[in-house]
Amino acid sequence: MTTRRTTRKIKVGNAFIGGDAPVLIQTMAATKTFDVDATVATVDYLDQSGAGLVRIAVDSINDAKALAEIRKRTTANLSVDLQENFRLAELVAPNVDKIRYNPGHLHHLEPNLAWEKKVEYLVDVAKEFDVALRVGVNCGSLDPTKLAKYRDQLANGDAGAQENDDAAAVFDPLLESALEHVDFLDSIGFTRYCVSIKDSDPETVVLVNRRFAALRPQIPLHLGVTEAGAPPRGVLKSRLALETLLAEGIGETLRVSLTVEANQKAKEVEAGRLILENVASGNVIDPATRLPNLNIVSCPSCSRVQNGRFVELARTLEKATEFAKDYPFKIATMGCRVNGPGETDDADVGLWCGADKVNLKSGSTTIGSFGYDEIIEKAVELLQEKIRLYDQQAK
Ligand code: SF4
Repeated sequence: MTTRRTTRKIKVGNAFIGGDAPVLIQTMAATKTFDVDATVATVDYLDQSGAGLVRIAVDSINDAKALAEIRKRTTANLSVDLQENFRLAELVAPNVDKIRYNPGHLHHLEPNLAWEKKVEYLVDVAKEFDVALRVGVNCGSLDPTKLAKYRDQLANGDAGAQENDDAAAVFDPLLESALEHVDFLDSIGFTRYCVSIKDSDPETVVLVNRRFAALRPQIPLHLGVTEAGAPPRGVLKSRLALETLLAEGIGETLRVSLTVEANQKAKEVEAGRLILENVASGNVIDPATRLPNLNIVSCPSCSRVQNGRFVELARTLEKATEFAKDYPFKIATMGCRVNGPGETDDADVGLWCGADKVNLKSGSTTIGSFGYDEIIEKAVELLQEKIRLYDQQAK
């Protein structure tokens, strides 16, 4: 029987995260936010499916206006993820229960304003409109100052949380970014927040969250594996990280991010429930379960997806590259231009989807843009070329 730790308890709408509250399952609507009818129907369906909090993407003034209408028509707890435009906070806050900000995105807008000032502004907005915050650190959009500091280690492939008995050692850019922000929030007396530290590698998620929990045991953690991909692989990756942490009593809320169609998002809630049931029954996955060498990641899709064929493309590519499962390459497929270009930079074969074309990359180098009907063939060709060079070097 797992003994859960006791963290601070924060109120999010009519739910709580942390303290003695049960682990809250979250998910995200992937309908177009400006399509109010479709988004309300989805939010209500996800709420009834067991999601305690539903996130909605808001990128523009029009989305913010739609959010106000959505708020009037649903009682579900809602959250919004600020992307680069932190100033949207004051527009969305009156209509949500929680706002997530990403320390790695704060530098985009008003670059001459110190990040501390931006966080103070977010805290003022949160207090004024009675909302909670999430500090959401993500491997694909790290704070550039942290990235620069650890670039050499990253280049050598030895960054990322490593097992280290000294829990005070702060060497990881994900961890350091999270610690910097929680320490600042605490220093200004704001405690109504949780933290997420996500990576696409389940092992890193376990190690870095375990370390954070040891260093700041009072702060509630939102658990998740970013870009886990389509089921069943996405569920397996999430189980590996989340069941391991929850079995240690770590984690107060979770999201299983899955690459599925907008009308299939309840699968994220089902997977979250499965994880909690497994932990409760002691039937957790063996943490030593090995994933294939070929690391396939894809974003969960959201309202920003620019072409509805994205999910099918990600699934088809996974099948088309099965032949390479023993090779240590990374394939990344992203649904839009917001996060696609940056989050494919470290992939051996990276695809990010535009409205009519899909951009193909090798690391940070763009190979070209191809139609949806030809991209699979081009991506497989690129992978075959990588394998050829790899085999040549191995001889
Ligand atoms: Fe949404 Fe784009 Fe992120 Fe995919 S990459 S989840 S479409 S913002």
